[in-house]
Amino acid sequence: MNEIRTSRPNDLDAFWMPFTDNRSFKANPRLLARAEGMHYYTPEGREILDGTAGLWCCNAGHGRTQITEAIQRQAAIMDFAPTFQMGHPIAFEAAARVADMLPEGLSRVFFTNSGSESADTALKIALAYHKARGQAQRVRLVGRERGYHGVGFGGMSVGGIGGNRKQFGAMLPYVDHLPHTHLPDRNRFSHGQPEHGAELADTLENLVALHGADTIAAVMVEPVAGSTGVLVPPVGYLQRLREICTKHGILLIFDEVITGFGRLGTNFGAERLGVTPDIMTMAKGLTNAAVPMGAVATSDEIFRTVVEGAPNGIELFHGYTYSGHPLAAAAAVATLDLHREEDLPGRAMAMLPRWAEAVHGFDRAAGVVDVRDFGLIAGIELEPRPGAPGARAMDVFRRCFEDGLLVRVTGDIVALSPPLIVEDRHVERIVEVLDGAIRAVP
Ligand code: PLP
Repeated sequence: MNEIRTSRPNDLDAFWMPFTDNRSFKANPRLLARAEGMHYYTPEGREILDGTAGLWCCNAGHGRTQITEAIQRQAAIMDFAPTFQMGHPIAFEAAARVADMLPEGLSRVFFTNSGSESADTALKIALAYHKARGQAQRVRLVGRERGYHGVGFGGMSVGGIGGNRKQFGAMLPYVDHLPHTHLPDRNRFSHGQPEHGAELADTLENLVALHGADTIAAVMVEPVAGSTGVLVPPVGYLQRLREICTKHGILLIFDEVITGFGRLGTNFGAERLGVTPDIMTMAKGLTNAAVPMGAVATSDEIFRTVVEGAPNGIELFHGYTYSGHPLAAAAAVATLDLHREEDLPGRAMAMLPRWAEAVHGFDRAAGVVDVRDFGLIAGIELEPRPGAPGARAMDVFRRCFEDGLLVRVTGDIVALSPPLIVEDRHVERIVEVLDGAIRAVP
């Protein structure tokens, strides 16, 4: 049985792979069959050090028995039960656990199954909130260039990645974008938060002047943008955004899908960055990715306004068959227990000086044009090959994989985000393999 699950499949055709160059992958597949701790293993048993926590999600490392046993137990007790007009104890327990770790001011938790669903849910809650308080004209949503909020129509529209939008025609109407905060000429090789660029938050005032504050429902940003190449907020930027939102009654939504659950050395990015949003999305690390689950946290005021402002009956016409799925809820409870017991955020925080020193060892290396870090995240930006943007980083990615290291690339940026259990020897190995790959791939 185990052999069938971990052996190389014979036929790769049927699976239309997501965000993948299907043709080149299928000509030269990279398969992962097993995972444990800091490592993946290929079907042939080759060890691959996980430099990306899967996809920014396995924060506690792989194959944690506490989590897998909780899932197994729950599957035997009750495989599924709906959460529409009824409930099951483990879903309430999971929500309470999440609520316990939220920054002060956030206390209500809506479950989804992914980061994309969380983004769309957050936007819908923002619109429902304004409608419930008699401001139904606030329908405008504001995102940011280079923002990533998943692939649903809401998140994609508010997101600011051209490549994710161009194929699909019309987006949501009434969406605007703030400029991104990536200013390499002023902030190159920043350690932690870059010094310059807080004033870019003021562009929200331009949108207010253009459209009127009373038409704008919400602003959604990632505290640290990961998917578009590790864009760290300039010092003071998020504070400024918070002030402008508060001044104009605009809700501030943080997409904490990658910054949540210890990645920045605190439970959530909001704490590390000292800014509390009105709504927060999460996913990935919530269950250590062992079962898909996302969530949206809101303030009590938002919950009460929507719920108490509604006529009798269903208050929010939104939800997923699998919202609060028993297996996901069991995984979340076990993950958050483990989080607390092992103090994963504290562990990440303790590793930060070593991490920053290691990744900034690439500063001004041949072919490296920028290095950025914040929390247990780093972006190492390579000089693109003339006329072939992204090709060099993709070759670095392939070379790293051959040499036993999983990294993530976006454009010509190599993004690193190891599980929070990373140790010195893993950091050394990440640097060694990546350095070899960057040197080997002109
Ligand atoms: N939001 C952010 C900030 C993300 O980084 C991601 C995924 O990387 C998503 C949303 C989408 O999450 P999912 O792929 O689970 O839908």
